[in-house]
Amino acid sequence: MQTLKDSFGRTFPYIRLSITDVCNFKCGYCLPNGYQVDKSDNRKFLRLEEIKRLAKVFSKLGVSKMRLTGGEPTVRKDFFEIIKILKNDAGIKRVVITTNGYHLNEKAKMLVDSGINGINISIDSLERNIFKNITGHDRLPEILQGIKILQQLNFENIKINAVLLNGINASEKDFDLWGEFIKENKVDLRYIELMQTGDNLNYFNKYHISSKIFKDYLNKKKWIYQTFGKDAGPSLNYINPDYKGKFGIIAPYSKDFCRTCNRLRITSRGDLRLCLFGNTGISIRHLLQRDDQIEELQDLIVGQMKFKKVSHYLELGETGLTKNLSTTGG
Ligand code: SAM
Ligand code: SF4
Repeated sequence: MQTLKDSFGRTFPYIRLSITDVCNFKCGYCLPNGYQVDKSDNRKFLRLEEIKRLAKVFSKLGVSKMRLTGGEPTVRKDFFEIIKILKNDAGIKRVVITTNGYHLNEKAKMLVDSGINGINISIDSLERNIFKNITGHDRLPEILQGIKILQQLNFENIKINAVLLNGINASEKDFDLWGEFIKENKVDLRYIELMQTGDNLNYFNKYHISSKIFKDYLNKKKWIYQTFGKDAGPSLNYINPDYKGKFGIIAPYSKDFCRTCNRLRITSRGDLRLCLFGNTGISIRHLLQRDDQIEELQDLIVGQMKFKKVSHYLELGETGLTKNLSTTGG
C-alpha cells in the first residue's frame, strides 16, 4: 500500500480540507474587511463529487482524520452532506471541524447528529466587547450557548482556539477568565500565537506577542505540562487536577514546531499544500474529475511528498502563498 511519508520520516494521516474561502466574520488578523468576492475569478470551490474522490484517495493513502475548515466551513449549504460523504463513502474514521461558531446554538444538535468526532471553536475573548471588536460580530452569547447545548448532548471533544493578541486578550485577567471557564467546563482552551501572513504585516507587528507570556502564567499558577499524547497535535497541553478542561499553547514560532507535523492541506479550490506557509503546492483538481483517475492522482500526491520542507521558515517572514488563513484553512 502506498502511504504518505516525506524525506524527514514524517507520515501524514491527517488532512485539513478547506471547503470555502467565504467567511461571515471579519477577524482583524484574517479578513479585516470581510470576505471580498473576486469577480475575475470564476473557479468555484470544490464540488461534492470532487470532495468524495479526494477523500477516497486519501483514505487509500492511510489518512484516517480530516478536518473541515475554511473560511467558515458551515456557510456551505452542503456542509452536512460533506460530513456524510467523508464518513460513509470515503471511510474517514475521524471527521472534525474548525468553526467560528456562527449560529452554534442553532446548529449544535445537527452537528452532534452528523457524527463529527470533534469541534474546534474560535473564541478570541470571553469579554463580549473584545470579541465583537476582533470579529466584527456581537455573537459571543450564541456561541457560548451552543457550547452548552453540545455539552448537554454529551459531545466530548470540544476545543476552543484563541489567537494571542498583545494588549487585547493577553493579560493575566484574560487568562484568569478562561481559567474560570475551563474549571467548570471540560473544554480545552488553546492560545495560538498570531502568525504573519501576506496580508497582515501591520496587524502582526502591532499585536504579535510570544506565547511565553502565557507559559509563564501557567507555570506561576502551577499548571502541569503534559507530555505528548497520541493525538496531541501541535498543542503543548497543561493540566490541573482542580480543572475539568486543559490549557494549551500552539506556538508556530517555536523551534521544534514542525518536527511533529503530521498534516497536509487542501485548499477550497483543490490545491495540495504541503505546509500552511511556503510556496510548495500544486493543483490536483484536474485529477478529481472522474473515478478512473484515482491511481494517477494517488501517484501525483505521493510524488509530491519529497518536496515537503523540514520547516515553514515563518520566523524569517516567509509567508509564501498564504495571503490570509481563510484561503488555506487555519
Ligand atoms: N472560520 C473558522 C474559524 O475561525 O475557526 C475556520 C478558519 S480560521 C482561518 C482557523 C483558525 O485560524 C481560527 O482559529 C483563527 O483564529 C486562526 N487564524 C486565522 N488567522 C490567523 C493568524 N494570522 N494567526 C494565527 N491564527 C490565525
Ligand atoms: Fe473568518 Fe475564521 Fe478568518 Fe475569522 S479567522 S475571518 S472567522 S476565516
